[in-house]
Amino acid sequence: MAYKSFTTRSLNIPFPKADPHRALQMPIYESVAFDFETAEDIAANFRGELPAHVYSRTGNPTVECFEQKLKALTGSHQVLALSSGMAAISNAILTLCSNGDNVITGKQLFGHTFSLFSQNLPSLGIETRFVNLNKPDEIEKQIDKNTRAIYFETVTNPQLEIPDIEKLSEIARVYNIVLIADSTLTPPVVFSSKKHGVDIEVMSTTKFISGGATAVGGVVIDNGTFDWNNIPALAPFSSKLGRDTFYSRLKKGIFRQLGGCMNAHSAYFQIMGLDILELRIERCVNNCIKLGTFLTNHQKIKEAHYPALESSAFNLLSIKYFNNKPGAILTFDLESEAACFAFMNRLKIIRRATNLNDNKSLIIHPYSTIYCEFSHDDRIEMGIRSGMMRLSVGIEGVEDLMNDIEQAL
Ligand SMILES: *Cc1c(COP(=O)(O)O)cnc(C)c1O
Repeated sequence: MAYKSFTTRSLNIPFPKADPHRALQMPIYESVAFDFETAEDIAANFRGELPAHVYSRTGNPTVECFEQKLKALTGSHQVLALSSGMAAISNAILTLCSNGDNVITGKQLFGHTFSLFSQNLPSLGIETRFVNLNKPDEIEKQIDKNTRAIYFETVTNPQLEIPDIEKLSEIARVYNIVLIADSTLTPPVVFSSKKHGVDIEVMSTTKFISGGATAVGGVVIDNGTFDWNNIPALAPFSSKLGRDTFYSRLKKGIFRQLGGCMNAHSAYFQIMGLDILELRIERCVNNCIKLGTFLTNHQKIKEAHYPALESSAFNLLSIKYFNNKPGAILTFDLESEAACFAFMNRLKIIRRATNLNDNKSLIIHPYSTIYCEFSHDDRIEMGIRSGMMRLSVGIEGVEDLMNDIEQAL
């Protein structure tokens, strides 16, 4: 039977192997190695003829359960879980690109992704070409025979801009390059990456999926939509591996050799997080809409942004791609940095912290923290105003959040 709701499906996906005790929760297999009955079996496993868990850096039953669950929920071709969002991003890029290749992306990126693209990849001979992703001409001008991918974030943070994903997909199709989405802010409940032409999806499951800031983790999702013959590093393997080329080369290459595996405890939290993801997102989005409206109409607030609000320049894209549930981050401005600090220090429920999508609401002043290493002019160019605060909205009662904000204003 095909269940309609994400949550019903999530709760009813069978374990990869039946549990001997009929446990209802997937157990945490905290074991490094796995036994084989015979020498012939272990040899067959090493030849690739007998699938089995061998060693937990290359695969673990609890981690596999999380991967299979996310694969079923997304209808994707393959899912690989990793130690963090950054591990997912770096492993995906390093599987696609080698010395001499380049990747095209926007300037509004998660900070450590920006550092990876601007510092570490160039030192390996992989160039990043930063463009305005809302300008197709600019993108096409930068594409050449060594371009392997267009990389974007579904909702940029903290600018809260949404690219026109299907336009990016059209360009990627024309030039036979991979479209990679970081959809951390809009996980599978609200965004179907395959439907909109994304080939590879990367996510920090630390954020929404972990169930509320319980464990660090990341995933690479392959939608099975790309012909790997178009990637020089993968083409030699594609006649044998076919649709599995990217996943197999990732798993038996960069992933295995760099060692960024997810551990069983983290996977356990991610599994439980998937079961309650839809509930949490619904609650957060409703809170965001009410808070966004409250802040937009408040005398003491200069401006407030949330893409689900009609006042947002990105509202139509939010409706088109995310069913108008564009994550749970909103931003709002006061007169000055000093006003922001005073406001933040008076908050009683909302915590001062840098994470996103915790069950608790978290606030930060990006100008003086995440972006403090940049010059004032660079910050302004990146859309980081000195009077702006970023609020990651949690699952508290919205009246309590409004009262907290009101008393602090
Ligand atoms: C947090 C985050 C990452 C990095 O994820 P980690 O799990 O912290 O490594 C990448 N992209 C986005 C959009 C994020 O918010």
